[in-house]
Amino acid sequence: MSDYAPGSSRGGEAIVDLRSDTVTKPTPAMRAAIAAAPVGDDVFGDDPIVNALQQRVAALLGKEAALFMSSGTQSNLCAVLAHCGRGDEYIVGQLAHTYRYEGGGAAVLGSVQPQPLVNEPDGTLKLDDIAAAIKPDDAHFARTRLLALENTWNGQVLSAAYTAQACELAHARGLATHLDGARLFNAAVASNRTVAELARDFDSVSICFSKGLGAPIGSMFIGSRELVARAHRMRKMVGGGLRQVGLLAAAADHALTHHVERLATDHRLAKQLADGLAALPGITVTPPQTNIVFVQISGGRGPALLDHLRARGVLATGLTGLRFVTHMDVDAGGIAHAIAATAEFLKA
Ligand SMILES: *Cc1c(COP(=O)(O)O)cnc(C)c1O
Repeated sequence: MSDYAPGSSRGGEAIVDLRSDTVTKPTPAMRAAIAAAPVGDDVFGDDPIVNALQQRVAALLGKEAALFMSSGTQSNLCAVLAHCGRGDEYIVGQLAHTYRYEGGGAAVLGSVQPQPLVNEPDGTLKLDDIAAAIKPDDAHFARTRLLALENTWNGQVLSAAYTAQACELAHARGLATHLDGARLFNAAVASNRTVAELARDFDSVSICFSKGLGAPIGSMFIGSRELVARAHRMRKMVGGGLRQVGLLAAAADHALTHHVERLATDHRLAKQLADGLAALPGITVTPPQTNIVFVQISGGRGPALLDHLRARGVLATGLTGLRFVTHMDVDAGGIAHAIAATAEFLKA
């Protein structure tokens, strides 16, 4: 067993928390940026940091405008509601966050019907499936309005060729395109492309500051001025008009300046974890492209392994397939500890 004291590098919590990259705590520098933030009432459009951040992110993604959102779920919801109306439909992956993990919001709140399609193992939707799912103009059918994709998907980066083809197909058939880019910066760092390149084919994009970028709260919806104006109306309707929100925007702005390039470290640690676990008997690892490691353990021992790890201060998620996510608050010692604790379980 390693003698690593879990979590000793920060905060004193005895935990290597690999459940998600959402668990990060604001750094002292980020807290200082929050404390120093000038604020105004953003419902009046008065908050200087929100306004500056929206311009900064719009420029970074090569679009006209951007809008601060409370969460990625709110951002994707407002996106679907901005693109689609009652009786419209959006095409989306069966395993996409926007379809599966957002409480059915587009259907519940927008009367927008999802048309889920099977995700290929790399997260893409087959172009033939997309084409076949677009309904003709006929009173029997919902009006197909939008194609929604996700990058990264389960930690995998969509290829530039694929997103270009999928968006070209959608646009040629009169659909708009939305990208759930909760981890778009991970995709950019991993593939050596800019977020503007990754966003180029899409009419709108949602990004999260609260994942690998390490902010406590916050997302952004990005698109044309017209789309952002529509999303602004929807955001108000779903209770997302916030007041002195510069406190949150200051954290997001700090994250954009200081926490993008370091995502490469998270990716390197994910690879270290994957390599270490793959060397153990009875374990199969999907080689990670970014910061998410999927692990299969034989013999239905997933829950027992999770219990064993938890008792040693290592947190992960899953049932048959386990998921480990690296982030700012994990270091090489924590990864070594997680590998050693797994090896100990397999020896027992
Ligand atoms: C986390 C996540 C979101 C948004 O989640 P919130 O918790 O609502 O911020 C959206 N899409 C993907 C792919 C995500 O991982």
